[in-house]
Amino acid sequence: MPEMNPFQIAQTQLDLAAKKLGLDEATHQLLRWPMREYRFILPVKMDNGKTRIFHAYRVQYNDARGPNKGGIRWHPDETIDTVRALAAWMTWKTAVMDLPLGGGKGGVTCNPKEMSEGEKERLARAWIRVVARELGVHRDVPAPDVYTTPQIMAWMMDEYEHIVGHSHPGVITGKPLALGGSQGRNDATARGGVYVVREAAKTVGLDPAKATYAIQGFGNAGQFAATLHREILGGGKLIAVSDSRGGVINRSGIDPEKIVAYKLETGQVKGFPGAEPISNEALLELDVDVLYPAALEGVITDKNAAKIKAKIMCELANGPTTPEADEILFNKGVLVLPDFLANAGGVTVSYFEQVQNTYNYYWPLSDVYAQLDRRMTESFKAVHKMQQQTKTHMRLAAYMVSVTRVAEACKLRGWV
Ligand code: NAD
Repeated sequence: MPEMNPFQIAQTQLDLAAKKLGLDEATHQLLRWPMREYRFILPVKMDNGKTRIFHAYRVQYNDARGPNKGGIRWHPDETIDTVRALAAWMTWKTAVMDLPLGGGKGGVTCNPKEMSEGEKERLARAWIRVVARELGVHRDVPAPDVYTTPQIMAWMMDEYEHIVGHSHPGVITGKPLALGGSQGRNDATARGGVYVVREAAKTVGLDPAKATYAIQGFGNAGQFAATLHREILGGGKLIAVSDSRGGVINRSGIDPEKIVAYKLETGQVKGFPGAEPISNEALLELDVDVLYPAALEGVITDKNAAKIKAKIMCELANGPTTPEADEILFNKGVLVLPDFLANAGGVTVSYFEQVQNTYNYYWPLSDVYAQLDRRMTESFKAVHKMQQQTKTHMRLAAYMVSVTRVAEACKLRGWV
């Protein structure tokens, strides 16, 4: 079979859920496509005085349940199909978490690692100038994703407020604390994932405090997963981690705090003292209890799924597993915690941030953790219940929960 792009994967996943739910044809077709999408060109002055042309995107997938919500990714491999897929997954994610939001996503094809701070700021402001009229707490609220940061969100919010002429911090989430960010947003994605691992472990009789774990991708999601796994689950042994430059393994255990400090100091995990090198591919196939894919999409396919040995796979990354791989993993008995449930902690605290901005009243950290834990636990239980009832895999069960909710909103609005 020719390789599918991420959007074709997202559509295939929806098709499976629609079939299993017996969804009517009009609703199925409505949910297969973004309701709106914007592609635009951004000319940006670079430090050398020359203008560079960037390809940029914003996709608003479905806003039947509320304003569109989703991050902005800056990556050299960004395409409209990646953005469409991520926007679709945001729609299912806000629905599975029962947040009153729709799904969106944005992106720029660029390599921020090769750009200065000034160039990034000019790109961020240029992106907002084009899409400003489509944004706002009642329309569409972006957030960070791969290679975009709280600082970039701050420039974007500032540009937006200049355009509309008044304070509007809820237009974007993932902001620095000093500009209306929420307590607990920085580690929310990983924290939510670890809460779900805790609940999943109960269902397979695994003691997470004794579990071994490995992490592919060592950015925001991966680094916090390394430390929070131990902190929240009361133990566990980190065996291997990797990033785009390669990975490291130590079967006796890697100190999560030390490798995070090493990564922050050197920009890589390669060369971490006391550990051996391991490739990104080999890391996925390690004999560990819990595997956290936390890098990019499409890394677990029909070629390597049969070699995955983890008992629980917690998808912090978006779209790491192809539909063929899902079937193989299900038949092998790997409990996959699907991306739009497992990594929903980020958007959930983004939603808390939006709520706090709108009220102009800010919660203490303990409230954020408690509310996040409650929502992650409830969502896991809803999906697990559906999985038990339908005897299918967790992703399909999660889709069935989400699609039912989005379809109901579309029907109540009279769209279908
Ligand atoms: P990030 O930019 O902080 O980190 C990405 C990491 O992936 C980096 O360590 C990078 O070196 C690594 N990486 C890139 N290409 C790789 C490759 N080919 N092999 C191995 N590692 C590679 O991004 P992040 O915010 O941690 O996001 C990671 C994943 O989690 C993405 O799929 C993102 O969509 C998803 N996610 C993040 C959040 C969030 O709040 N941060 C929320 C939901 C989902």
